[in-house]
Amino acid sequence: MRIDQKLSSANLSEPNLREEAQRQSEERLRFLFESSTEFIHILDKNGRIIHVNPAIIKHSGYSESEFIGKRLDEFFTSGSRKIFVEQFKILHENGSIRQEFEFVCKDGTITTMDCSISAICNKQGEILSFVSLQRDIVKKEETEQMKSEFVSHVTHELRSPLASIKGFASTILADKEMDEKTRTEFLNIINDESERLARLIEDLVDLSKIEYGQIKMDKQKAQILDIVQEAISNLKPQYEKNKIVLKTESPQDIPFIFCDRDMILKVLVNLLLNAFKFTTERGRITVSVEREKERIKVTVRDTGIGIPKEDLPFIFDKFYRAESPEDEKKGAGLGLSIAKEIIKSHGGDIWVESRVGKGSTFYFRLPIK
Ligand code: ADP
Repeated sequence: MRIDQKLSSANLSEPNLREEAQRQSEERLRFLFESSTEFIHILDKNGRIIHVNPAIIKHSGYSESEFIGKRLDEFFTSGSRKIFVEQFKILHENGSIRQEFEFVCKDGTITTMDCSISAICNKQGEILSFVSLQRDIVKKEETEQMKSEFVSHVTHELRSPLASIKGFASTILADKEMDEKTRTEFLNIINDESERLARLIEDLVDLSKIEYGQIKMDKQKAQILDIVQEAISNLKPQYEKNKIVLKTESPQDIPFIFCDRDMILKVLVNLLLNAFKFTTERGRITVSVEREKERIKVTVRDTGIGIPKEDLPFIFDKFYRAESPEDEKKGAGLGLSIAKEIIKSHGGDIWVESRVGKGSTFYFRLPIK
């Protein structure tokens, strides 16, 4: 219902209508003030704080009562305090300023804030108070840096298969006398590299869709043991070829869970493919499923090369690949970050334990309800 309809349906008299409209407008402003992720201070004419919003309380660690009545610059470093005093005079003359200030949080950390302060005036143009909007620049810069690192990783990963495809294709085209065996070998490389490129693009699209919430998890009742079996049968031919023993274990009855079947299948295929890639011939891979209170725990254990201790904390990061002699087996380093996002969006957790030369064990848990 629109506000004007709401007002007329309430059948209010003229002054009451105005009062009601004003009350609603105040409510909207209060909502904006309270829900804003930007840091907001309302200051009196002398720069003393009269209101703060929850975002700045959360960020700074100070309580509301620690803010109220103090001048805003009391929370700045001494350098910023001096600038604030000068800027405050300009603010009185010009009605607004924009300046970077260093804000000291309760635990002593200093954050650089991009601060815009504007005067609130009455109809006669007299200043009643000020509103100060602040944004944490350091955080903004970190996000910018993460974005640019992501773009440079993607560019790098796309460039190497493309260069190889282009190189081998041009060699084939230029060498009319090339023997059949070499030509086939080169064409196979082009084929493998195009597949790698297609996989990479598919992974990137999946990751960004999951991260930005564009893939809605289609959660349905499912039996995790069936999904494990499907993942295993997808990979069976590769395992058999390398004489790898693949076992499944589930000591108890496993209840149904609600999950996006295709997504959990993707996680299992990723974990099993890694286990396969990094396990030498005649190795052993075991998938076990058990109930842990209100959760189902799935374990994928291999007897492969293992992951160095120093790489373990980063293994679920995008584009991270551990140091290992198996360089040609590594992908773009996106599989585990996709798995982590999928498990996270199911309210579960995923982690790894590993020892070089002994093997790796990946675990994930999903809530039953
Ligand atoms: P990739 O596409 O490179 O396999 P992942 O995100 O799936 O990307 O894995 C990241 C890295 O983690 C791999 O490059 C590898 O170094 C390491 N890794 C993952 N699983 C295993 C495993 N089972 N055994 C040994 N190393 C593994």
